[in-house]
Amino acid sequence: MINFVDTLIEKKAAEEIVGVKASDSKYIFGKLANAGELCLNYDVTLLPPKKYFLPQRETVFKFKLGDKPSLEPVAEAKSTILIGVHPYDIKAIELCDAVFTTINPDPNYLLKRDKATIIGTDCLSPNPKAFCASLDTATTESGFDLMLTDIGDSYVVAIGTAKGDKLLKKYAKTREATQSELAGRDGQRKKALGEYKVSLNMSPEEIPGLLEVSWGSPVFKEKSEPCLSCGSCVMVCPTCVCFDVQDDVAFTLDKGERYRQWDGCMLVDFAKVATGENFRDDKEKRFRHRMYRKGKYLQERYGKLGCVGCGRCALACLAQIASPAETFNLLKAS
Ligand code: SF4
Ligand code: SF4
Repeated sequence: MINFVDTLIEKKAAEEIVGVKASDSKYIFGKLANAGELCLNYDVTLLPPKKYFLPQRETVFKFKLGDKPSLEPVAEAKSTILIGVHPYDIKAIELCDAVFTTINPDPNYLLKRDKATIIGTDCLSPNPKAFCASLDTATTESGFDLMLTDIGDSYVVAIGTAKGDKLLKKYAKTREATQSELAGRDGQRKKALGEYKVSLNMSPEEIPGLLEVSWGSPVFKEKSEPCLSCGSCVMVCPTCVCFDVQDDVAFTLDKGERYRQWDGCMLVDFAKVATGENFRDDKEKRFRHRMYRKGKYLQERYGKLGCVGCGRCALACLAQIASPAETFNLLKAS
């Protein structure tokens, strides 16, 4: 694996070779200077790889004002290889793809996605708040170009696309996996499924129906009481795709740019409109909305749940209330 990654970097197989790196006691996706920086045995990264397709802040067009106003769209993307993406994040990218390709296709997102190669790795050490095993997102058979599984002394590599196949043939030394190595991969995956500490007390298919009858439940008020409205849960989520759009006009008033930046429904002003009204003016409404978005609204629109069970929201929440699994289990029990 080290040789493969070092060769990708050395031969400049893409403008950016990005992978999971240790940062203090956490993990992040960042540009790799060499293969030694890559950590494939991590639990979860602080931010999901979504940031490479939907950056925290992004210019969408530049404009000129004055006698001859004009507008120039901005869509930039580097060819990028992402190494070490866990299956739940791949599932989240599949949901983001659905959001940004249907209804209103988004050229900025699509350009970045087209130029990305995804090398996944199975998550063998789930974080203590993850519940992917309950959502069928702990492993995936789609959404990657290559998928790596650590079987101890080597990696089993699954080829997902022709692009992945070409990359592997060009930059790595490989051979057909033996039956015993494939059995080793199955064993590693099975073992990892037993490591999850949080689980849903229902199947994923039951969640939309549960929410259908839970709108007036006191669970939302009780759970949201300690909420700080900090927005951390939505900022770290791989399936949250909301953004705010602003204009930045130069002091000279003759030019400027329109940019978008991450926004989230748990922030107080998110649903505030120009006339001053706020459609979700208290934390109970915002908390409930987030749960419905995770468990019902996106399922209805795109056929996929809006949560992949990564546990990042629960890890980030100082009030310790953000996990959808806890709320869904409480609703089921009430
Ligand atoms: S809601 Fe929480 S657990 Fe679900 S995908 Fe988002 S961050 Fe992960
Ligand atoms: S649920 Fe937690 S992380 Fe989310 S806004 Fe409230 S306090 Fe912040």
